[in-house]
Parts: sequence; structure tokens; C-alpha cells
Amino acid sequence: MQLIDTHSHIFVQEFDVDREQSIARAAEVGVSKLLLPNIDSTSISRLLETAQAYPDVCYPLMGLHPTSVGKDFEKELEIIEDWFSRHKFYGIGEIGIDLYWDKTYIEQQIEAFTYQIRLAKKLKLPIVIHARNSFNEIFEVLDRENDESLTGIFHSFTGGENEYKRIMSYGGFLLGIGGVVTYKHGGVDKVIPLMSTSQIVLETDSPYLSPVPNRGKRNEPANLIYTAKRVADLLGVDIHDLATATSANAVKLFGLNPKE
Ligand SMILES: [Zn+2]
Repeated sequence: MQLIDTHSHIFVQEFDVDREQSIARAAEVGVSKLLLPNIDSTSISRLLETAQAYPDVCYPLMGLHPTSVGKDFEKELEIIEDWFSRHKFYGIGEIGIDLYWDKTYIEQQIEAFTYQIRLAKKLKLPIVIHARNSFNEIFEVLDRENDESLTGIFHSFTGGENEYKRIMSYGGFLLGIGGVVTYKHGGVDKVIPLMSTSQIVLETDSPYLSPVPNRGKRNEPANLIYTAKRVADLLGVDIHDLATATSANAVKLFGLNPKE
């Protein structure tokens, strides 16, 4: 069984003590590839070091995270964009709008999100969207910017039936399902049964959002197995079939080599 963790910040400091062992533990349960979404200019060196140390496991994405959008976001975007001519990246992420912590830079967040979507269309790369308390704002941008070439993932999807249907209507998007699906009051467990395996990828968002039974602890890619089990139960499919389908979805979206 092969699983792909489509969203893992394994390059952050929380993994400095046991990054190697975390990757080994993931491999033991079948998690053989990780997509690594960038955060901002300060995380790039760690991101690239990790991707270079584990070239057959870790695939880097480049982008500016919405919670890192501030006064200097244009400078940040310049640094991010410059990297695409210097290194191979498998997508643009993570990008989006986060109005949970702070609404001060909402206009700048919308501008940075829009800019990076246009960059994705130009570079023909998928995007990884972070949406927190911001579905309406995200949909407004996508209504303007979506076209038949745009593809990506709604990372850590926790919306309801309406959001699910709206996302599917854009045509090129998958739903990233993470640890919240194992939480008692997570809510997304009610929507999963409406989905098909062709619409889903699995993710941990390590080091955040650990699934039950490890909720509250640092998350790591090996925990993807708990999320996979829960999603397979909710869909009424065999976990091996879910693994095959979701891995194929990730391989296709990011243009990964399936044999590695
Ligand atoms: Zn993330």
C-alpha cells in the first residue's frame, strides 16, 4: 500500500530532532512521498535542504502563506517568484486567505493570492489553497481567476456540502482531507460520504492537526494512516483502494514519478 502525504511541513524546527526517523516511520506504514508547502522567505532554506536530503520522498512547493502576508508582501512575492527560475517546484503553495487570526491585511492577502494564482497559470503548476474563515473571499477570487487550466487542492478541507459542491464546480480542484476527519465534532465527516475517491487527496499538515489517537501531540506523516482508515470507513471502501486512488490523484496533480 502506498500513501502520499500531500501537505507536510516536515522541514520546520519541530522535526530537527527526528526528521530522519519520522520519514522512516512514515515509510513503515506506506507513506512514501511527502509534498512540502513553503511558508515564506524565512523557511525556504530549510525547505530546500530537506527536499535535497530526501529527494525520492520530499517534493517542495513554493509560495507565500497567507498568515505571512504583511506590509512587505510585494518584496516577499518577488523572492518567491524568483525561486521558480532557480529550482524545480511541484506546485505553488501554500497560498490563500486566513481571516481567523487577523483581518488587518485582508486586501493584501487577496492581492497576494490573486498574484500567485496568475503565476500558477503562467507556470502551469497546481496550487495548494489554505482557507480559514475565508471561503467567501476565496470563492470571489476563484470566480474571477479560475479557468480550464487551473488545478489544485483545497488543503485541510473542513467545509460543508455547499462548499464541497462549489469547489467541485470549478473543475480542477481536489479536496485535501486531514486529521480533522477523525475528530468527534470536526463536521467534515458528514460531507465525506458525498465524495468519491477521485476527488480526494490525504494530508497530515504536520506538525499540526494530529488525528485521533494522537490528537494534541505533534503530528507526523506516519499518522496519515489514521486519517486514511477513517476516510475509507466513511466512504465504505477498502483502505487499499483508497490509497491507490488518492496516490494516483496526487501523482497526476503534481506530476510525480509514480515508480520512485
Ligand atoms: Zn500548511
